[in-house]
Amino acid sequence: MIELINISKTFNRGKPNEVNALHSIDLYVEIGEFLVIVGSNGSGKSTLLNVISGNIKPSSGTIALDGRDVTDRTDYQRSRYIARVFQNPLSGTAPDLSILDNFRLASLRTHGKGLTIGINEGFKYEVMEKLSLLEMGLEHKINQPMGTLSGGQRQAVTLLMGVMANCKILLLDEPTAALDPRSADIVMKMADKLTHDFNLTTVLITHNLKDAHTYGNRIIQMAEGRIINDVNEANKAKLAPTDLFGWFV
Ligand code: ADP
Ligand code: MG
Repeated sequence: MIELINISKTFNRGKPNEVNALHSIDLYVEIGEFLVIVGSNGSGKSTLLNVISGNIKPSSGTIALDGRDVTDRTDYQRSRYIARVFQNPLSGTAPDLSILDNFRLASLRTHGKGLTIGINEGFKYEVMEKLSLLEMGLEHKINQPMGTLSGGQRQAVTLLMGVMANCKILLLDEPTAALDPRSADIVMKMADKLTHDFNLTTVLITHNLKDAHTYGNRIIQMAEGRIINDVNEANKAKLAPTDLFGWFV
């Protein structure tokens, strides 16, 4: 589903502040895989996600999504495949618009403007049905402004919006770092459930050792722009949390 071939990224090439953020990365992520990425600050994790989403253009290399070469496609053109959740719950949604209107926007973004989602009752009920999965009672608050929700609720709703818009890939960059433990738990469980229920391909960056151990069927460690460890499902299942401890320091 995600294929990176020989991807490198240099920021500020030729200048004193030149940084080689990614070095010849080869990575293949299969449909339905839930990949966890860990690594110290500055190791290139976010840059890698931004290269997948198209927010950053690699200096060299090729990227394919769902079998199609998208190297020269913009982030906007890739957005029909990709849902993203960032660290900051404020960045994924429009706070002044209602929950329902946020879902409408997300669907328009990926389906194009020709659709009549805006006046479709069926769409409203689909949103309510999806929201009830969260068990937060939000299906009764669809006309409430998004900005009135807690950070955890917003992150969970952002995940659902991506799924409803038929995105196939979930990119999660420390989605729970700004949340209290209970909200973080709900968001992670929802990401896991959606990945399984909709056979999504999910990439999670986390600094949380417990989440890295609990979730995902593959884990990679990055350091200085390289993948220095890659553990598959069978071997990940054998890891104890303490085995991962060294990966976080
Ligand atoms: P991580 O997410 O693992 O903490 P990043 O991918 O954000 O790491 O950063 C990798 C390296 O690239 C760091 O040295 C960082 O300072 C640098 N970097 C990231 N984005 C930019 C940018 N837009 N301009 C210049 N340097 C950048
Ligand atoms: Mg980062």
